[in-house]
Amino acid sequence: MPLPDGSHGEHLAFRGASSSTERRGCVEVVCGSMFSGKTEELLRRVKRARLARQRVVLFKPRIDNRYDDVKVVSHEGIKAEATAIASAAEIFSFVSLESPPDVVGIDEAQFFDDAIVEAADKLADAGVRVICAGLDQDYRGKPFGPMPALMSVAEYVTKLQAVCSRCGAAACRSQRLIGMEGQLFVGGASDYEPRCRRCFVAGVVDVAGGPPSRA
Ligand SMILES: [Zn+2]
Repeated sequence: MPLPDGSHGEHLAFRGASSSTERRGCVEVVCGSMFSGKTEELLRRVKRARLARQRVVLFKPRIDNRYDDVKVVSHEGIKAEATAIASAAEIFSFVSLESPPDVVGIDEAQFFDDAIVEAADKLADAGVRVICAGLDQDYRGKPFGPMPALMSVAEYVTKLQAVCSRCGAAACRSQRLIGMEGQLFVGGASDYEPRCRRCFVAGVVDVAGGPPSRA
């Protein structure tokens, strides 16, 4: 049962309305399969924080340059300026714990090293609202990178579901459609499709001889 809007870690107030010592940090995780709307949800929360004149810093892993090098772009084409970083530790080259921003957003969090968990914790301890969006499962249906650990330290976890491309049920898995080695492979929309538990086939589906893809 989804919580009513605003009942997660959102503490909106115009910047300056409360001092940073009063601000209470937290970690929020937005996860789910591909096409579940994770990035849209991250950007929706970021937009609301900016409307409240809060200072927001957005990061994305440097590995992910599918659409744009310096922007977080959802599959729907919604964009926001982001800083591409190669490691979690690099966050602290851009963010000071002494005078932190109100919100730190991290897209594609599954591609970061485990140090992202400690970084998120540190930021939250310093009063920052940390919003991490990422895939909770890889194309084999296994936990993806640091996501399980992030979810365990988070105050708020939102799991989104896509629509299964084969049967229309709620989809929690990302079906890989082309044979590429490695969990870290970043594909485009055409390389994956959302599948429910029943329609998901662990591994790679041979599109030529396999089930039909979405029209
Ligand atoms: Zn299905």
